[in-house]
Amino acid sequence: SDVLADIRHLKQYFPIRGGLLGRVVHHVKAVDDISFQIHAGETLSIVGESGCGKSTTGRSILRLDDPTSGEIYFQGKNILELNKAELKRMRKDMQIIFQDPFASLNPRQTVRQILKEALEIQKVVPRGKQDERIRELMDNVGLRPEHVDRLPHEFSGGQRQRIGIARALALEPRLIICDEAVSALDVSIQAQIINLLKKLQKQHQLTYLFISHDLGVVRHISDRVIVMYLGTIVEIADKKSLFDRPQHPYTRALLSSIPSTKRNQPKERVQLTGDIPSPIHPPSGCRFHTRCPFAVDRCSSEVPELRTIHEGHQAACHLIS
Ligand code: SF4
Ligand code: MG
Repeated sequence: SDVLADIRHLKQYFPIRGGLLGRVVHHVKAVDDISFQIHAGETLSIVGESGCGKSTTGRSILRLDDPTSGEIYFQGKNILELNKAELKRMRKDMQIIFQDPFASLNPRQTVRQILKEALEIQKVVPRGKQDERIRELMDNVGLRPEHVDRLPHEFSGGQRQRIGIARALALEPRLIICDEAVSALDVSIQAQIINLLKKLQKQHQLTYLFISHDLGVVRHISDRVIVMYLGTIVEIADKKSLFDRPQHPYTRALLSSIPSTKRNQPKERVQLTGDIPSPIHPPSGCRFHTRCPFAVDRCSSEVPELRTIHEGHQAACHLIS
């Protein structure tokens, strides 16, 4: 399949200042040398505990934060080399939906104003056609046309997320990054929003980068899954392969912690113990060695490479061959 985005050796280190002179004393290694591709039309999920670098990865791809180093190719162009005008044009093709739509919507703007503002950023829809486009967007996301002049607080959480989706959809993007987009919603509402995202994906040939800590949700929506731990990728696989045959001990621990059907029961349960180490001084060797029940000597000194286990499935662990 076509590669829509190609992320190479992405690093995102955030400086921490301290002391009387406010010098940089440490770096938080939020993302530490990750590479992966996003295929056109797929839903690629990134899962992991909070602080693993999944949101940072999404923000870097959008260039909301400039990465420390690496390359991010989107539709064939390295977006880190684009000038302001080129970046603005590229932004039309990439949108983001956040966990809390209320925080990202202006409480004093009606839905019409919110969508109009999104359309105004790039002049793709002529003024005279805006109202028609807004009606179409409302219809696309399942909002009633008469609600167009309401304010965000007059909607439920699920409806507000529909407004967030309509805004993301306004400029007909290719890629939508969903950062915990359904995590704040009740389970029944989550299912409705996931179904809406799937429907829109088909209708508009969308590609999703779906960032979530919730493996149950990820199992429903994904085509492929990336598992991150402390700023690195420990496993990448097709959804079925990941859930049926998880390879990395960390992935197996994550899967063991969710209620599973008999069919999806991993061979053996792996208990996750201890806290996530600090991303300022990540453990040497395999970053998971301080919590891994299978760790051997070399795990604390040698960094395991991401290796192909079988077609479409890669993992980074010394014990997997
Ligand atoms: Fe565990 Fe070692 Fe594999 Fe890391 S490399 S996951 S510490 S067995
Ligand atoms: Mg996050």
